[in-house]
Amino acid sequence: MEFDKAYQPAPIEERWYTHWMKLGVFTARPDSSRRPFVMVIPPPNVTGRLHMGHALNNTLQDILARWRRMCGDDVLWLPGTDHAGIATQMVVDRQLAREGATREALGREEFVRRVWRWKEEYGGAIIAQLKRLGCSCDWTRERFTMDPALSRAVREAFVRLHEEGLIYRDKFIVNWCPSCRTAISDLEVIPEVTQGSLWTIRYPLADGSGGIEVATTRPETMLGDTGVAVHPDDERYRALVGKTVVLPLVGRALPIIADPFVDKEFGTGAVKITPAHDANDFEAARRAGLPPLVVMDEQGRMNDNVPAPYRGLDRFEARRRVVEDLRAAGVLVSVKDHVHNVGYCQRCHTIVEPYLSTQWFVRIAPLAAPAVQAVAESRVRFTPPHWVNSYNEWMGKIHDWCISRQLWWGHQIPAWHCSDCSTINVAREVPATCSRCGGGALRQDPDVLDTWFSSALWPFSTLGWPDETVDLKAYYPTSVLVTGFDILFFWVSRMIMMGLHFMQEVPFRRTYITGLVRDAEGQKMSKTRGNVIDPIDLIDRYGADALRFTLAAMATPGSDLPLAEERMVGYRAFANKIWNAARFVLLNLGEGGGGSAAPALPPPTRLRVEDRWILSRLSHVAKEVDERLNEFRFDETANALYQFLWHEFCDWYLEMAKPSLLPGAPAEEASRTRAVLRHVLDAVLRLLHPVMPFITEDLWQRIPHEGATIALAAYPIHDPGLVDEVAEREVALLMEIVIRVRNIRAELNIDPGRRLQLLAHARDAGAGRIVAANAATIATLARLEGVRLVPDLSASGAAARAVASSVDLAVPLAGVLDPKIERQRLSREIEKLSKESEGHARKLQNADFLGKARPEVVDKTRRIHEELREKIERLSRTIESLS
Ligand SMILES: [Zn+2]
Ligand SMILES: [Zn+2]
Repeated sequence: MEFDKAYQPAPIEERWYTHWMKLGVFTARPDSSRRPFVMVIPPPNVTGRLHMGHALNNTLQDILARWRRMCGDDVLWLPGTDHAGIATQMVVDRQLAREGATREALGREEFVRRVWRWKEEYGGAIIAQLKRLGCSCDWTRERFTMDPALSRAVREAFVRLHEEGLIYRDKFIVNWCPSCRTAISDLEVIPEVTQGSLWTIRYPLADGSGGIEVATTRPETMLGDTGVAVHPDDERYRALVGKTVVLPLVGRALPIIADPFVDKEFGTGAVKITPAHDANDFEAARRAGLPPLVVMDEQGRMNDNVPAPYRGLDRFEARRRVVEDLRAAGVLVSVKDHVHNVGYCQRCHTIVEPYLSTQWFVRIAPLAAPAVQAVAESRVRFTPPHWVNSYNEWMGKIHDWCISRQLWWGHQIPAWHCSDCSTINVAREVPATCSRCGGGALRQDPDVLDTWFSSALWPFSTLGWPDETVDLKAYYPTSVLVTGFDILFFWVSRMIMMGLHFMQEVPFRRTYITGLVRDAEGQKMSKTRGNVIDPIDLIDRYGADALRFTLAAMATPGSDLPLAEERMVGYRAFANKIWNAARFVLLNLGEGGGGSAAPALPPPTRLRVEDRWILSRLSHVAKEVDERLNEFRFDETANALYQFLWHEFCDWYLEMAKPSLLPGAPAEEASRTRAVLRHVLDAVLRLLHPVMPFITEDLWQRIPHEGATIALAAYPIHDPGLVDEVAEREVALLMEIVIRVRNIRAELNIDPGRRLQLLAHARDAGAGRIVAANAATIATLARLEGVRLVPDLSASGAAARAVASSVDLAVPLAGVLDPKIERQRLSREIEKLSKESEGHARKLQNADFLGKARPEVVDKTRRIHEELREKIERLSRTIESLS
């Protein structure tokens, strides 16, 4: 295999993904005796393109999948897509509009055929993108929510819930989007604070004895009023209850009723009752026996139940006309500015209309209770745990779930209306005749199910339910669900309810709720802001491994992820660093490189201190990574690997190892170093593989190894036999000495190539032994002519001094520089830094700055200030040592 000088992600990514697919690495084997580890993917919309949210949660899932697979589990990560009712229908609607056609003209059957055709052609885009990210899903088990098997599961669930009395059909006020022309769920209504008006209207009493004033934010709905209500305890209106008013512009007689739902403090304390267009009014009207009157059609236009002048007007045009006419009639008492919450459609941002219609509902309380209990008993555990509070709060006030949608794309409701006896036949398969009258004039309910109804079944419908399949037995309940917080209620809670109901068991043991990927400034990404970052673009520019590492490193539980370009640049550099380190190691493995027989690690007694140190550090890192991944601390996992690889392995160990690989070094030393290098490189590639699968596979294939892929190699575990505290202490001391000398060099501007002398005085015998034993290594790393242990440093003359633990150090400067000039230079430098530092200090004492600046900015200022202060202290000490 050619070893390119520079790391090129693109060809590597393609080559190894193909390799894994060919080997069937991702395929789960329920017949194996291995412990199952199972996740279902949150199915992306079939219309979707990969966005940063997908990139994040799929990276984290893949890290878990690859890690558990290498640990020997039978991993099933089940992928698939969601048919996404409204979203997909809108895409095809738009396509039709471009052709000058409409869904209505096409007819339902042909339209649904068009959507399937669209799905076959374009629906796979996001799957290909997940593969580019490196996702190790079991593609042999890919599912789609409208697959025949999954559709059968949906019908089965619907029929069972109906048989159990948990699904019913009723007239109810729903959230209606006049633009999407369908009911939408509470969750799909986005409340926004909106500047509106509050109109007060006077309704005259029928007996001519006065009137009553009502306040409303939607005056056009008055055309549908069938009553007026006041609070029973309201003294102002007590005498009026039971009387009748005449509805202006319409002339209908409305009774005045008393109902405690009225808020005495709102407006005038008297409200109009519009049962067909307001949820509270609907309930109150039911209690009082007032009839509902629908005054709008499905597109939000006034219908034939209103007086002729308003028929056919859009609701907002009708509002304008109604207000005008009320004013002309002298019954408009006042108009006031009014700021209130208005619900908008999540899909199309149209103002949602409360609308009376006949819909299908799931009776939710009997399903919610066990789901709350399961979480309370930690049968499902949440990370971060605070999401449990949101979950409980929402479950506590949950309403019956309106599951019907007036769409054509989706699972059509398995209910057939008999036109002879109007019985509704709910059935698994198309019934030939009506169950009540035996008639054959049956028409299927035109509505489809809310998309979330099918995704609520996802953890078991994908495994073959309602059949008792091998997969269902082996893989339910699943192990972990990784998902975004925005679908905690839409999806997570509903899966728990449905899983408990149909499988008598929770759908997953643990759920990790991810934060939100934001732009570098911490802003939410949005098309309108123009700050959307495309993950595929990042893969093209930095490689999938760098993107994955960035997301993992930023995934602190409970925090959002401000994605700055520097992070990507930094982690691509990290990939380069690994590449170059591996290249160095492989070039030095000599004859043994690339073959399959790995040389055994020599026994510890034959290893040098730095060898024992790096092996000990490796063992600690393996332990740390295992613990961190178990706690979903992807950030700390990435950080531990980064620190170990970049600093301990590359910066220190490779430098310490170099001399023994030089030509002329003793053969035994060289072969011992090679064995350690190979061992550590192999282990660290395996440790890193779940986060950076491509580069690690490519490098691992080049070193002596067993097996066809790193993806199935054993995950390194903590090896207590390799832990060596003595070696760790020794190397820590020699690293400290080297760092002190390097600092002296940097602060005094001494040419890095210039060889210096180092005098060391050890204040205890142990430290002295360590310095003596490692003098050659210290000299190499710090570029010294030599290290001399001395009984005291008083005779060292003009020298830069420093302390490393219990060792006092002096670098003689005679002939290196003029201490006097150097002291002056450093004084000037300190003066400059002090001014800078004072500026930051002033800022940090300024209450205005502390109150207004973003926390990141304050933190940064504090950090810089701290660094400046440290630097000043260090330089002052250097000046002292020059005296
Ligand atoms: Zn809409
Ligand atoms: Zn019938």
